[in-house]
Amino acid sequence: MFDPQFFDQKHIQENSTVALTVFAVGRYLDAYLTTFLTSAEQHFMLGLPVTYYVFTDLPDRVPNISLAPQRHLKVVPVVKHSRWQDVSMMRMKTISDTIESELRHHFRYVFCFDVDQEFKGRFGSEALGDSVALLHAHFYKSQERKFTYDRNPKSKAFIATGDFYYHAAIFGGTWANVKHLADACYLNIMLDKQSNVEALWHDESHLNKYFLIHKPSRLLSPEYCWDLSIGHEPDIRIIRLKWAPKHYEKLRT
Ligand code: UDP
Ligand code: MN
Repeated sequence: MFDPQFFDQKHIQENSTVALTVFAVGRYLDAYLTTFLTSAEQHFMLGLPVTYYVFTDLPDRVPNISLAPQRHLKVVPVVKHSRWQDVSMMRMKTISDTIESELRHHFRYVFCFDVDQEFKGRFGSEALGDSVALLHAHFYKSQERKFTYDRNPKSKAFIATGDFYYHAAIFGGTWANVKHLADACYLNIMLDKQSNVEALWHDESHLNKYFLIHKPSRLLSPEYCWDLSIGHEPDIRIIRLKWAPKHYEKLRT
């Protein structure tokens, strides 16, 4: 529960600025990017200066979205890794590099999103914080032993016992904290590659390990990333963002 105006006024007074990073590589661009961006313009951090950083191997295909005042979009070309697992995991490296070269000079907050989702309700300044994590819609009521942590001791993402299961589709915080997170996850991803192991859920497993050690300061409810196929849950009052349909057989082959 929160008062939206309280957070909006505070962040306008503090001149808060937000960079949103999103990757749309290969077929994910045509499948999801237009819906993601147009819905973000309806619901994401309205009233604050926001710049979208779209990372893609297909810069010419990025749709021309009309943006409200104080809102901008930058397209950053990236190479396409051949395995979808690497497209997902290597985002950590690109995010870190972009924070270092650019974001740290212009934005207080950085928010990193999967593209396969659609904003449906207010996703506003109440979600800003020093280090922001999201409870995974499928596990927020599960017992810990059901969490899909990486349980392989050979992986750097290994967790014997944890507390929450976080969803890697959204994380954020101050630029310094997001850089620290991205660097730590990328290092562990590369150490796993050297040991010839891959964490069960890739970057999400490493993110869970990171947040187990470095607790987030703000925890978003699954209202901020809901899977409609779960059905009605009385504690989900406002669906603020929903998972888009996943057609992996078409997208990942
Ligand atoms: N992604 C992409 N192209 C790919 C694979 C992944 O652009 O071929 C990006 C995209 O932003 C996507 C994110 O990486 O939302 C994570 O992958 P995905 O959404 O498939 O993972 P899941 O949500 O199923 O864990
Ligand atoms: Mn996704």
